[in-house]
Amino acid sequence: MVSGPSGSGKTTICDRLERDFGCEYVVTATTRAPRTGERDGFDYYFLSKDEFERRLVANEFLEHARVHGNLYGTPRRSVEEPLARGAVLILEIDTQGADQIRETGIEHSSLFIAVPSFEALEARLRARATEGSSDVERRLRRAREEIKQAARYQFVVVNDQLERAVAEAARLLGLGPPRAVPGAK
Ligand code: 5GP
Repeated sequence: MVSGPSGSGKTTICDRLERDFGCEYVVTATTRAPRTGERDGFDYYFLSKDEFERRLVANEFLEHARVHGNLYGTPRRSVEEPLARGAVLILEIDTQGADQIRETGIEHSSLFIAVPSFEALEARLRARATEGSSDVERRLRRAREEIKQAARYQFVVVNDQLERAVAEAARLLGLGPPRAVPGAK
């Protein structure tokens, strides 16, 4: 599982681990609205609050958490079925969800993606500009809390430079060698 503050670049790193190292990204569920370019069933399962709560009561989530005012959860099926066929999964979740995964006893490695500085994080969040300034403030406050949890992870990678961070993450997680990707740089 991979965690890190919003704006740390963890989604990009996870995408690269999927593309270059053959890991499977676990699509999780959320009640947050899709950002531009995000697709249902690909980036997330975008659910209404009622539907999320219905699935929660039906015990369909392996873990769930409230993050930035929205609900997020890992569908059991999305983890149990691929693990049974031997897939290597990447589960990108927040630190509260990570605590719950530790409790499940499912065998896993844990990686925290950190940023070189808060200034860098703030710049990335503002550049992303998908959130209003109050949301950026909220994500920054939460980042300060999340970073305190980094010591609970087996590995920490500072995302100062993407290629280096991807290579280090793959090495620490024991993945590799990278697959040849047609058309990739
Ligand atoms: P975002 O809204 O920026 O996509 O994600 C916000 C936070 O929610 C990120 O830290 C992301 O890793 C986390 N997250 C995404 N899916 C899940 C999930 O299924 N469970 C938990 N606990 N956190 C999630």
